[in-house]
Amino acid sequence: MAEWLKTNRNNNSTVVPRHDSTMNRRYNHTKILLATLLIIALAISCKQKQTSETPPPPETDTVAEEIPPKDTTYRLSLLFAGDLMQHDLQFKMALQDDGTYDYSECFQYVKHEIESADIAVANFETTLAGPPYHGYPNFCAPDKYLVDCKAAGFDIMLTANNHTCDRRQQGLERTIRVMDSVGIQHLGTYLDTASFERNYPLLVEKNGFRIAMLNYTYAINGATVHAPNIVNRIDTAKISIDIEKAKSMEPDAIIAFMHWGVEYMLEPDAYQKQLADWLFRKGVSHIIGSHPHIVEPIEIRTDSITGEKHVLAYSLGNFISNSTRQGTYCGMTIRFDLEKDSTVRISNCDYSLYFVTHPPINGHKQFRIYPTTVPDSLLNFHEAYRKHITLDSIRPFLNEKNKGIYEREVEWNPSLIKL
Ligand SMILES: [Zn+2]
Repeated sequence: MAEWLKTNRNNNSTVVPRHDSTMNRRYNHTKILLATLLIIALAISCKQKQTSETPPPPETDTVAEEIPPKDTTYRLSLLFAGDLMQHDLQFKMALQDDGTYDYSECFQYVKHEIESADIAVANFETTLAGPPYHGYPNFCAPDKYLVDCKAAGFDIMLTANNHTCDRRQQGLERTIRVMDSVGIQHLGTYLDTASFERNYPLLVEKNGFRIAMLNYTYAINGATVHAPNIVNRIDTAKISIDIEKAKSMEPDAIIAFMHWGVEYMLEPDAYQKQLADWLFRKGVSHIIGSHPHIVEPIEIRTDSITGEKHVLAYSLGNFISNSTRQGTYCGMTIRFDLEKDSTVRISNCDYSLYFVTHPPINGHKQFRIYPTTVPDSLLNFHEAYRKHITLDSIRPFLNEKNKGIYEREVEWNPSLIKL
């Protein structure tokens, strides 16, 4: 490098040249050199401009960066709970001295399990029509019920059930608006056709997966759906169209949530079985049922050609309610994990049992959902009775009936003890 172009590294400034004859000669030579370099640079620039008019070569490096490594496997865990009911006693016990409502105690022993899933879904079988609140037969719960369900870990609520019109048009519409304002996803009922077209099927994108969800109910207790509201009813012609729309979304799985069956029946009826077969034939990947308020068997079906596994849960029972009929206070969650690389598959699938206790009997301030692993030493007589109905009656029934799926006991977390 020429002496006069050297940078003074000490003060980081350029050394000013001295104007003697030798330097002038060097300066002229440099000018010639710079001019030559400028001409070459312009020539290269013109060449590049001409080249840019032709199609650029494939940007192989950029594309390669966007494709995940070959050994990348995406994982997604899904958890499904049964009916979130809201009978009179539930909101009466949730009422606090200051007039607010609090349901957090209901979910405190199962919250860690619900939250641990990437996506948790439940059937929201009440309305949020505003006060006055009411239980059976025209359900209407405080908004805080939904807020606390969300806080418990639920991400998505199903609204197509036979109680969705319990508070007529105002109740249906307000329920949707409250869910939107609380920020919880929902499917099954819609304000109008435009909203339906925009939001249904519900496409959930998470962890690199695309899951399309469908939700239908067998009936709405004789109520009338007022235009422009939409309630998804079980109608195979309509469901066929929705399934095709779901397929066009190119999902990794299509899950149909069906509100069907006969209340308090431990076995699915012929219609449930036929409809399930039809849904699978049409391309639904998994079916999760609700409405009987009692658990019904689960099947894992394996496609004889592709080897793909399909979950069919006829009814998960009540997740929380004030139902007292035997078995209605026992519910289950079903959970499965999906893996995705060159294929999408179920890597694990199991179910867990719970029971609900209620305040007038157990002496606590709130209804509580307990996993079956709660130690007997922490339960009073009435709580223990419900636990052992679950273990001695429901568990053997499901052990016998469930095909290809096993129970997983939810770990009891001693730090959650609140007596
Ligand atoms: Zn129902």
